[in-house]
Amino acid sequence: MPIEQADYPAMLADLRHGFQRGLTRPLAWRRQQLSAIESLLTENEPRIAAALAADLGKPEQEVYMGELSLVLSEARHARKRLRRWSRPRRVSTPMVGQPGRSWVQPEPLGVVLIMGAWNYPVQLVLGPLIPALAAGNCAVVKPSEIAAVSSALMAELIPQYLDNDAVRVVEGAVEETTELLKLRFDHILYTGGAHVGRIVMRAAAEHLTPVTLELGGKSPCVVDAGADLKSAARRLTWGKCLNAGQTCIAPDYVLVTPEQREPLIRAIESELEAMYGSDRLGSADFARIINRHHFDRLAGYLDNGRVAIGGQVDEAGCRIEPTVLTDVAADSPVMREEIFGPILPVIAVADLDEAIAYIIRRDKPLAAYLFTRSRDSQRRFVEQVSTGNLCINDVLMFMSVHELPFGGVGMSGMGQYHGRAGFDRFSHLKAVMKRSRFPEVPLRFPPYTALKQRLLKMVG
Ligand code: NAD
Repeated sequence: MPIEQADYPAMLADLRHGFQRGLTRPLAWRRQQLSAIESLLTENEPRIAAALAADLGKPEQEVYMGELSLVLSEARHARKRLRRWSRPRRVSTPMVGQPGRSWVQPEPLGVVLIMGAWNYPVQLVLGPLIPALAAGNCAVVKPSEIAAVSSALMAELIPQYLDNDAVRVVEGAVEETTELLKLRFDHILYTGGAHVGRIVMRAAAEHLTPVTLELGGKSPCVVDAGADLKSAARRLTWGKCLNAGQTCIAPDYVLVTPEQREPLIRAIESELEAMYGSDRLGSADFARIINRHHFDRLAGYLDNGRVAIGGQVDEAGCRIEPTVLTDVAADSPVMREEIFGPILPVIAVADLDEAIAYIIRRDKPLAAYLFTRSRDSQRRFVEQVSTGNLCINDVLMFMSVHELPFGGVGMSGMGQYHGRAGFDRFSHLKAVMKRSRFPEVPLRFPPYTALKQRLLKMVG
C-alpha cells in the first residue's frame, strides 16, 4: 500500500516510537536487517535487472557490477564489522583528567531520510540504507521517481524483506518530497544535483537537521605525458560509457598534452570498436538515456565542438552514441555543465601543471583521475587537486574499496559514507568520560592560590 501524504506524520511518529523503544539497538537485529538486504538482492536479481533494463536499458552485467555486487559486498562488509564499529573507542586521558578514563561511544541518531537519484536507483537507495541500519537507525527511503520501474520495485521489495517498524519507502516526485521534507528527521542523506541539494538543505535547516549531500560535478581525467595510452583509453572509455555516461563519478572531460591528443583519440576509437562493435547505437551492451529531457540536453552539446568520434543519435530510442569532442570552448555549455552522458570533450593542455591549474580554477569535483607513469606527477596531482575521490591509472574503481570514504567536497557535496565512514555518518559519536572518586586532587577548587596555579601549570 503506498503511503499517502496525509499519513507521513503518523509514519514518522511510528518509526520514532520504534526507535525510542529500542527496536534498532540490538546488534543481532541490525545484522538480521543487513542479511535481509543481501537476500533481497540475491533472490530478486532477475526482477532488479528487468527494472533497470526498463528504466535505463542497463545491460545485465552493468546491473551486477554497478548495483548488485557493490551493495551486496557493502552489506557483508558492514555485517562482519558491526561489533568492532559499534564498540566504545578508547581515547587517552591527559594528566589533569587522571585518574579517569575516556571513550567515544557511537550511538544511533534516530529516524533518517534517504533520498536516491535515478541513475543507480538500487545502489543509491540500499547503499546508504546499509550504514543507516548498521548504525541502528530507523529510515524513510525515497527513491527517485524518474527511474519509475525501479522505484516501484524498491517500494514493493523493501517492506517484504526489512522490518516495517524501522524502514518505510515513500514514492513520489516534487510534491511528495516537499511534504516529506517538512518533517523533522535526525539526518538526511540526499543524492542528486546541486539545485535540489539546496532545497533539501534549506528544508533541513528549519529543524537543524544535519545533511549529507552526495552531489555531482565535472570530474576531470588527466592523461599525463608518457602515460600508457592504450590502458588509459580502455579504462576511461569503459568508465565513460558505463550506464551511457550517467554516472556521477564518470570522467567528464579529458586533459591531455597536444602531442598525445590524436593518438589518445585513435586509441579510444579502437577501444569503442572492441567493446561495442561498429553499431554502437544499437549495442545491447550500451545503456540508453533516462528520458527525453536528458536526451535533448545531451544532444544539445554535440555542436559545442568538433565531433572526432561518434555523434549519432537515435531520438526514438533515447540513445546517444559514445562521442568524442575536440576544439570545445571553455565557456561552452558542455564545459560549464556536468555532462552526465556519453560525450567526452578532449582538451589539449601544455603539461601537468596546466592541467592542474585548469582543474583548480573550477569547482571542486566529485572525482579526479590521472593516468601517468611518473611518481612525481602522481605526487603533485594528489597534493594539489582538491576532489572528493581520486584514482591514479584507473577510473571508478575506488568504489570497490569499502574503507575509502565516498563523498564530495565543495560544490560536489558534503559528508561521506561507505564502510566505517558510513557507520560514523549515521552515528553520533558520543563523548564519555569516567572519573575515579579517589584520590581527589584539590588543585582546581577555590580558594585559588599562587601555589595551586603553579602546580596546575606544571601538570599542563
Ligand atoms: P533526481 O532527479 O533523481 O533527483 C534526486 C532526488 O531529488 C529524487 O529523489 C527526487 O525525487 C528529488 N527531487 C527532485 N526535485 C525535487 C524538489 N524540487 N524538491 C525536493 N526533492 C526533489 O536526480 P538528479 O538531480 O537528476 O541527479 C543527477 C545528479 O546527481 C548529477 O549531478 C549526479 O552527478 C548526481 N549524483 C551524485 C551521486 C553521488 O553519489 N555523489 C550519485 C548519483 C548521482
